[in-house]
Amino acid sequence: MIGIDLGTTNSVVAYLRAGQAEVIANSEGAKTTPSVVFYETLDTPLVGELAKRQLLLRPDRTVRSVKRLMGRRYSEAKDNLAKLPYPTRPSADDEIRILIDNGELSPEKVSCDILRKMRATAADFLGEESAQAVVTVPAHFNDSQRQATKHAAEQAGIEVLRIINEPTAAALAYGLRKQKAERVAVFDFGGGTFDISILELDEDVFEVRSTNGDTELGGDNIDELLSEAIAGWILKETGVDPGVDVGARQRIREAAEQAKCELSSLASTVVSLPFIVAGPRGPHHFSREIQRPEFEALVRPVLDRLKEPCARALSDGGLRRADIHSVILVGGSTRIPAVQQIVREFFGLEPNKSVNPDEAVALGAAIQAAVLSGEIEEVLLLDVTPLSLGIEVEGGVFRVLIPRNSSIPTAVKRRFTTTRDNQENVDVHALQGERSAAAENRSLAHLRLSGVAPSPAEVPEIEVSFAIDANGILSVSATDLTSGAQKEMIVESYRPAGEQEAERLAAEAEAQAEQDREFLRRVGRRQAALATQRAIAAFMESSGELITEEDGAALRQGLFRLDVAVHADNQEAVAETRAALLEIAQKYPEFLQAGRPSVEQVE
Ligand code: AMP
Repeated sequence: MIGIDLGTTNSVVAYLRAGQAEVIANSEGAKTTPSVVFYETLDTPLVGELAKRQLLLRPDRTVRSVKRLMGRRYSEAKDNLAKLPYPTRPSADDEIRILIDNGELSPEKVSCDILRKMRATAADFLGEESAQAVVTVPAHFNDSQRQATKHAAEQAGIEVLRIINEPTAAALAYGLRKQKAERVAVFDFGGGTFDISILELDEDVFEVRSTNGDTELGGDNIDELLSEAIAGWILKETGVDPGVDVGARQRIREAAEQAKCELSSLASTVVSLPFIVAGPRGPHHFSREIQRPEFEALVRPVLDRLKEPCARALSDGGLRRADIHSVILVGGSTRIPAVQQIVREFFGLEPNKSVNPDEAVALGAAIQAAVLSGEIEEVLLLDVTPLSLGIEVEGGVFRVLIPRNSSIPTAVKRRFTTTRDNQENVDVHALQGERSAAAENRSLAHLRLSGVAPSPAEVPEIEVSFAIDANGILSVSATDLTSGAQKEMIVESYRPAGEQEAERLAAEAEAQAEQDREFLRRVGRRQAALATQRAIAAFMESSGELITEEDGAALRQGLFRLDVAVHADNQEAVAETRAALLEIAQKYPEFLQAGRPSVEQVE
């Protein structure tokens, strides 16, 4: 059994030898394998260092950073896709297709080719086909991204024992056999993503308290900013824009990444790009020194984005900065001194560098594989789900069933009811996100329960259950408790379901909190109005003979006015008419006695 860290930039495979996790070197002798695939033809993928070299020569056939595209919709990733050196297009159901050599590839297929190489690396070294693995993903990956990763591994012939979160894996590598109670933050800043997780290590129990991050923030963003600056300098110096030539762009990017890495250990470096552009008077050579402070100022916008997720992880875990005992650095980008400075300033601690930032995740995955096989017995890993999961209820409101940062595996059941008489079908719309308005969250699936026993609105009891397994993968079921009708599904990778769908993570949710509150207030007023309308109509029908003629006329008029006000969304008129109606109805004790069931409603 092996552990695989499928990274944005590099991938690593590890195994357990005599109780210790160790990284396995690939056929080129390197412990990390660039997550880059070159396609001479679609059937001959070349993975790793050799493919990385092709980035310069054949950028149109070489795929890098594919992890950023995993499990994402074309419409979501459009901006990133436009920057790639090869063309992409959406499939019929909005999946991403990479166009190479007159054929097309999915991001999953590219990841599958990388995973095949990792599997072969392990097989060559161990002398046997190890087909079982623990594979890691960023803690902040949503359900579709996890599913896509799992499918990619399965296509590569790997039996996925478990998908675990990268920071959790790193904490395992850090804390195994430490026999110490500690609260640690794992600060994982890699090529494509940033994750921050807070864990309680208590001897051999590893419990994740909270996790946060940004799936769109990594060393790649730093390379981009520096590349833009270099391209700008070249344009200024030569009058020729290097951005129009794919080859020149790629060379600038390579030079930017190299300069960035050098500036982690040197105070200054020189970017040198001979023959970078050709002007009317021949080729130009570009060379310029960059000092570390200049670099830091250039990439400040990226560095500043690291703090917000840290603050959210702390507040979600109900913790203060001073409650953290150690900060473990993981991911290549934590080598940047300015990143370490942010950790120092934010947590008031010297970051802990006792684990190798490139290897920790794979080592932890191998440890988890050994735990699952019983080879290591003493570890209990309790992970959490990074985003809230729930369903859409009446009024387009998102009702959370499993809040973010709940320990997994977990299962939750809730009862809902119908809104229309004799409703035979109930559509359970499962979503993931932090916004109050369902349409602002990411739609995962629609589950249609048919065969609901015919009854008046609000009578049926529909039990909706959500379960997340240890891989973080969700299954949803709905049962009509009267007819026994049941529908269940494992939420496979996403399906497009409506135009308004958008993924908004916690950051945006917080920024939009006031808008969300206003949305809830509006829905609340509307629902209160509708409930009043229903209750009065039902009362008039059942107890008409008790109501005086005058009140009856006033109620009928009031109901009409309320209906108009609700449809016109005239909040003032709604509140006024509703109050007037209730004033009349509440004179009758029978009205007050006819309590309505207060179950939530699902449409
Ligand atoms: P990972 O995803 O953990 O493999 O991290 C890869 C990222 O780390 C890439 O963006 C690399 O450019 C970056 N990286 C690797 N080494 C260094 C270094 N010495 N200084 C700065 N960034 C680095």
